[in-house]
Amino acid sequence: MKVTDFVPVHGPNPRPRRLTRRQAVRLGALLPMAALAASACAPGPPPLIEGADNLSSGGAEGHHLQQILDRRAKAQLDGDEEAYLADLDSSNQELIAREKMVFANLRQFALADVRFITSRALPRPLGEGTDRYAFQPVIKVVKLTADDGPAGVLGPGEAYEYVLAKQGEKWVIADAVPLSGQEAQQAGAGRANSPWNVTPLHVVKTGNVWLAADDTVDLDPFVAPAKEQARSVEAMWGKRKRFPGHVLFFSNDRETLRTWYDLGDSAEKFEGVQIPLFGVTRDGNQYNDVTYATRMVIFLPNIQKFSDDPTVVMRHEMVHAVTSRAVDYGNGVDEGAPRWAIEGFARYIEVDGDPGRHAGEVALAADALRSGRLKAPPLPDSEKFYEDKTIGENYAVGYSVFAFVEQARDKETAIALYAETIKFTEPFGQDLVETPAFDGICQRTTGMSASDLLSQWAGYVRAGG
Ligand SMILES: [Zn+2]
Repeated sequence: MKVTDFVPVHGPNPRPRRLTRRQAVRLGALLPMAALAASACAPGPPPLIEGADNLSSGGAEGHHLQQILDRRAKAQLDGDEEAYLADLDSSNQELIAREKMVFANLRQFALADVRFITSRALPRPLGEGTDRYAFQPVIKVVKLTADDGPAGVLGPGEAYEYVLAKQGEKWVIADAVPLSGQEAQQAGAGRANSPWNVTPLHVVKTGNVWLAADDTVDLDPFVAPAKEQARSVEAMWGKRKRFPGHVLFFSNDRETLRTWYDLGDSAEKFEGVQIPLFGVTRDGNQYNDVTYATRMVIFLPNIQKFSDDPTVVMRHEMVHAVTSRAVDYGNGVDEGAPRWAIEGFARYIEVDGDPGRHAGEVALAADALRSGRLKAPPLPDSEKFYEDKTIGENYAVGYSVFAFVEQARDKETAIALYAETIKFTEPFGQDLVETPAFDGICQRTTGMSASDLLSQWAGYVRAGG
């Protein structure tokens, strides 16, 4: 049987420059796991920033830059292309072309806010005696109506280097370079290779779902299924916290997919990803305690290669996206909610009562148990979850936990077990399932102790579900 892989990208989220109370606790690696997990349940408010509206700290040049950027943000929100381009150096054709594209792309989404934060960027003179300065990082906040987060956090940030230059008596933007990968990480800000900054897009809206694609994709066949899956997964999640809307990006071109959100090799391997985004505070610092937005990318070339159904892939990623606001991703690199729960539950909702797929998943999970590679308690480590050799079995093992709970109790209990588990973060390499916290989760949601649940689950899997 064919194994397909779906993964939310737990990409490197830059650490905030200032530690919040909760992150400081997380770094205390010697604290008992239960204490770590408990702290994860009580996110503190974001740091409050006092002061004037204009937080620019780059002197006179910084003031000029902030004024120009304020005009450009307003122009984007007003849909005024002429004003948006007015302060750009018209001799930089590449810059003009890129900014025209970004303007046209963002016009097609429902923008809740666009603004620029320059307070973290000090001017760096480019050459002596010239009126030319580089500013890094300038944070561009792009908040869609699909996004939401705690008060005091503005929206997802994108890191840029801006070059400000004087032409005659006028200051202009000579360049705006999006930062991604290591550069964005070093800047302690979100990457700026969102698809709308990289690729000309066409966007279709249906209900609270936005579908965006490059010119290799006709979106029509995906519109109704995306809306249907959004409705269905939202209904499954009930009154629990979720984002107001959903944003999916599509391409048939692997090279394009590689460039979006630093996806790189993921674009060769996977069929879809869900990308959690963190917001920034008014001073431009990343706020990593809860996600502010989520984006999905659907890798059509790989879906075609595996002869899979894009609707099923959308459903899987939609489970990640709809439940993402309740997930504690930790720093997303070497800690976070257990991956067996995140992926197992997405597969569980994706399979949703299909007896053939259910049998296949349980058989794979039984293979994994028999192989003896899973230590006791036999749930896959988050650290090695996505390793090529065992990834299919790992998804199946995660799946089987929720299938078992449904069989032993009901579907609502399986959903509750997931909803409680993802509130906890584990440093990868340590297992939440071994802590008293997980025992509490099992007791509260299923009425079983963790050890009873795991032993009955293992029996269920060995018996073929
Ligand atoms: Zn997944």
